[in-house]
Amino acid sequence: MALTYTETTRRKAASPDLLVLPGQAGWDDARRAWNLAVDQRPAVVAFPETADDVVAAVDHARTTGLRVAVQGTGHGAGSTPLDGTLLINTARLTGVEIDAEARVARVAAGAVWRDVVDAGVEHGLTALHGSAGDVGVVGYSLGGGVGWLARKHGLASSSVLSARVVTADGDIVRADPETHADLFWALRGGGGSFGVVTELELALLPVADAYAGWLIWPIEHASDVLCRWAEWTRDLPDELTSIGRLLQLPPLPELPEPLRGRQLAVVEAAYLGDVRGGRALLGPLLELDPELDTFAMVSAQDLMELHRDPPGPVPGRGEGWLLDAFDDRAAHAIVGSAAMDGTSPLLSVEVRHLEGALGRPDPNGGVLGHLDAPYALYAIGTAPTPEGVAAVDRQLALLRTATEPWLARQRYHNFAERDVDPVSFYVEGSYARLAQVRERVDPDGLFLAKHTIV
Ligand SMILES: Cc1cc2nc3c(=O)[nH]c(=O)nc-3n(C[C@H](O)[C@H](O)[C@H](O)COP(=O)(O)OP(=O)(O)OC[C@H]3O[C@@H](n4cnc5c(N)ncnc54)[C@H](O)[C@@H]3O)c2cc1C
Repeated sequence: MALTYTETTRRKAASPDLLVLPGQAGWDDARRAWNLAVDQRPAVVAFPETADDVVAAVDHARTTGLRVAVQGTGHGAGSTPLDGTLLINTARLTGVEIDAEARVARVAAGAVWRDVVDAGVEHGLTALHGSAGDVGVVGYSLGGGVGWLARKHGLASSSVLSARVVTADGDIVRADPETHADLFWALRGGGGSFGVVTELELALLPVADAYAGWLIWPIEHASDVLCRWAEWTRDLPDELTSIGRLLQLPPLPELPEPLRGRQLAVVEAAYLGDVRGGRALLGPLLELDPELDTFAMVSAQDLMELHRDPPGPVPGRGEGWLLDAFDDRAAHAIVGSAAMDGTSPLLSVEVRHLEGALGRPDPNGGVLGHLDAPYALYAIGTAPTPEGVAAVDRQLALLRTATEPWLARQRYHNFAERDVDPVSFYVEGSYARLAQVRERVDPDGLFLAKHTIV
């Protein structure tokens, strides 16, 4: 039985160039995802400019027997084939409004994190963004969202205050703690299975800067660095979020000379405090005598770019897991199986320290109120050809096997890039309720999401 909604839209004429079909001019651009390794082939792509266009696209799919998939950027593309779908690309639904006094951002579905962070700067406000400015706010926040402020302020999904959603029936509804509270709960960590989000309201934070940077060593020090980092993370304030990382940088001219084409061990960190406090906390890592130390006070905008993710679309193949623990043996297992000595096709293998606010159940959060594991492992390689994809997959399989003793039962929605059983994203009992919400709001299974709830 479908929900009875309180708010509906009058069907209006859709924008004339709403749909792009195979064979039409611009078809290959229309179906292209940010991840260029994904060759997605939907039946038709819609580029809505208004919520009414979204309604028209959903109506069109329903009446022509297509399912509906939604993407803002295609950063998360590839977990599900899009054959037989109408793909709604939200890139033309733009706009960010800031209510500085209330510390709230109203964000259209096509916005990326850079749009929100840039808009907040003049008010000394920022958002719970991730490690790349061009990741979509909606896709990221529906899946959880672990970024540089996360150990202090939690998952981005918990910062969502309301969502405007086009449902499978083509109605437009607002979901918040009072209205359609079950849908609101499901959206915050349950992903895109429940409708097309056209707008989110997000809580902002009064954070203008942070003490942040990289410590860098030659790859020969990888085991020492990861072991010391693991020990270091056991006693840190929530204000400090960090990543232990192995990198093989390509010989690209845009990379700074001391790093170009090299294999490195890196610790990245962001401290919500001053230089003095941050410097003192880094002490045990500085004892390992890093070759480069880039730590400084950085603006909210520079913090968003700290991880140095690719500045534009690339062909990538990655996978991520949560870890129940990260100790010396785990560090050695990662260094051995990642083989970042010039032979591995992997570009980056990173371990993110979670815990803090990420590890504490949020009573006001959604279905993903916290992550029940202290670390997350994520690895990615460049995969421009099918052979490249196969090579990265082989190395990822070696990494997974080597780290098996530390893998947690729970997986993390945003870092799981394959066809993972979505039950594994949630604490026991939550999935059944999520499936009930899905059954109520989309009984015919119109929406096909990254990690669809069934
Ligand atoms: C370079 C890079 C850096 C990343 N950094 C981080 C990080 O720091 N922390 C982290 O937690 N994750 C990170 N991720 C993972 C990222 O959060 C997920 O891939 C996320 O799904 C991307 O959202 P998107 O909207 O950009 O992608 P898309 O592929 O456009 O969307 C992903 C999914 O979200 C849903 N969706 C998107 N828009 C809508 C909508 N309007 N309505 C309904 N459903 C929608 C759909 O199910 C869609 O399949 C990163 C990924 C990349 C590639």
